[in-house]
Amino acid sequence: MQKEKVIILGSGPAGLTAALYTARAKLEPLVFVGNLLGGQVSLTHEVENYPGFVEGITGPELVDNMKQQAERFGARLEYAEVAEMNLKDGSPFYIKDGNGKEYEADAVIITVGASARRLGVPGEEEFIGRGVSYCGTCDGFFFRGKDIVVVGGGDSAIEEGIFLTRFANSVKVIHRRDELRAGATLQNRAFSNPKMSFIWDTAVEKIDGNGSVNAVKLHNLKTNEYTVMPTEGVFIFIGHDPNNSLFTDQLEMKDGYLVVDDHMMTNIPGVFAAGEIMDPIFRQVATSVGQGAAAGIAAERWLSEHE
Ligand code: NAP
Repeated sequence: MQKEKVIILGSGPAGLTAALYTARAKLEPLVFVGNLLGGQVSLTHEVENYPGFVEGITGPELVDNMKQQAERFGARLEYAEVAEMNLKDGSPFYIKDGNGKEYEADAVIITVGASARRLGVPGEEEFIGRGVSYCGTCDGFFFRGKDIVVVGGGDSAIEEGIFLTRFANSVKVIHRRDELRAGATLQNRAFSNPKMSFIWDTAVEKIDGNGSVNAVKLHNLKTNEYTVMPTEGVFIFIGHDPNNSLFTDQLEMKDGYLVVDDHMMTNIPGVFAAGEIMDPIFRQVATSVGQGAAAGIAAERWLSEHE
């Protein structure tokens, strides 16, 4: 059993910031990276609204900087996922990783984030990686000169749609309502982009293909009309769901998100949470960083009070 003062689950902006703060407090945090170093932001092409970077910064670069900064003060990264944990019996908490290695932690900070939501229509699972994608930055390159669709009307759909126009011949945004949820700046950029167009009041009913995607079946929710539209790519950006499967029955949640008090502590003393696992509202790099810093400070204070 490896004993640790602080174990952090997740290596997105919240986790790496919690690591920085607890490392600077000499707690030598151990960070379980999870399935992707940096989490969702490492799949983001450009981050323009994280303060301090006048011209913006790419997601992978920002993650690398945060990682190096946390490591400089003694944070250690474990490239594994947590498979099992016992939080209910209180501190020290039992944790087992995906390789069967066991740990005991005096405090735990959970920053495991959220995952892209699925449409849940026929063909979606079948064609993932063969025309269906949840990440423009990762897959845009494969759609050079192609006609593709983006599903969703929020900031992610519009931002990714604009990014995809760099590669695709055309990007049609399919949205279930007749107005976008995305912010005004992004909307203006999208409406003035000659490669982008919009299909309003429409749901994707089915994704068709033969080896790879070649069409979507659409349902106009106002006219009740069904049509089939040829396309070679379907990029889906319809929100995220919190990655809460490890904590069901252990921690208090609301709508699937961990509930924390004003010191970022869950209902179990010594277990803290930050970032998109506890925040259904803001979900920005900047807010996750703030929550991660707060959780790191709170964990350090809690540990020194309970030493
Ligand atoms: P979101 O804001 O929740 O938007 C999800 C979009 O998908 C909405 O337009 C929604 O339609 C649609 N949708 C949801 N379920 C659907 C379904 N089953 N079928 C079809 N359409 C569906 O999610 P997001 O765009 O991922 O953004 C999440 C958060 O991150 C937001 O707070 C956003 O501001 C932030 N964000 C910010 C930036 C930025 O500032 N540059 C970039 C990306 C994300 P309705 O509109 O009809 O509900």
